[in-house]
Amino acid sequence: MLKIITQYSLLILLFNACANKKDSVQNNAQIKEKYAIAIHGGAGTILKKDMTPAKDSAYRFALNEALNAGELVLKNGGKSIDAVEKVITYLEDCPLFNAGKGAVFTNEGKNELDAAIMTGEDQKAGSISGVSTVKNPIKLARAVMEKSEHVMLSGRGAEIFAKENGLEIVDAKYFFTQMRWDALQKIKKEELTKKVGFVDPIVVDKKFGTVGCVALDNFGNICAGTSTGGMTNKRWNRVGDAPIIGSGTYADNASCGVSATGHGEFFIRYTVARSISALLEYKNMNIQDAANEIVMKKLVEKGGEGGIIAIDKNGNIAMPFNSEGMYRGFAKSSGARGIAIYKDDKIN
Ligand code: ASP
Repeated sequence: MLKIITQYSLLILLFNACANKKDSVQNNAQIKEKYAIAIHGGAGTILKKDMTPAKDSAYRFALNEALNAGELVLKNGGKSIDAVEKVITYLEDCPLFNAGKGAVFTNEGKNELDAAIMTGEDQKAGSISGVSTVKNPIKLARAVMEKSEHVMLSGRGAEIFAKENGLEIVDAKYFFTQMRWDALQKIKKEELTKKVGFVDPIVVDKKFGTVGCVALDNFGNICAGTSTGGMTNKRWNRVGDAPIIGSGTYADNASCGVSATGHGEFFIRYTVARSISALLEYKNMNIQDAANEIVMKKLVEKGGEGGIIAIDKNGNIAMPFNSEGMYRGFAKSSGARGIAIYKDDKIN
């Protein structure tokens, strides 16, 4: 882990010029962006005081690289689905985030990955849950959407489908990182000392490292994708919101695309992503008000911690979160761009 952070730190000088730029996410419905892209790397109790400068920079570097990869696709006239896949694949391969390599551990010490992708022009969707050997779950979600007649596959069946469709399969050990293993041990210790059967990870950890991306391309097509390891210490093949279409992931060209991160059970029960889209569709709300209504009002009232990224059909972006921080970034064809981590980073 340390090695990776050091490697990232070496590239910080290169990166700083971009990262320090503090553009705000402008929501001017009059300007129609040719393209727009927003990314997240999870929300939660992310405080400046708990971060080392090296860790802070490593996260910013990774977010910036992921954003660049996605923006390049859109800038070159590519499709939003390809931009989303590029970004999420990068973040899945980066051990800093709770998706792909770096995913959290279940109570049994395994990594069970969930992911989803949805395209707004046809509202097609693909999602997978509980896979342990597929290197890039987002690619599998896309394959489900494009190569099967189904929306959602889980567990063993999803892995068989992955093999049949030539996706990269890795040994389950590939997903191991010391940081996530230690987080599980910490929770388990708590269970032992408190003599309780199960400690809710939300109480101990309060960090969600799920990754997501929403993109609008030159053709007016919106795509949203999300990928996660779920929550540390999860049991009984628990499935979170990320692969549930309408909860953690949603896209509709007529309204917006949304990807979420946070305490999944709440995002499922309040169908967060679809609710935001419905406020645009039925109530004619703008993206910022709609996103605030669900994330800053509804979820706060109900006790659901987390955040979302969303883009509407004109390229307006909203990135509200009700936690201490959210790893996030955005770029627009007009040149506006920003990366942020903490609440006071003032990106949105
Ligand atoms: N939403 C994810 C889940 O509940 C966790 C996260 O955002 O990190 O599975």
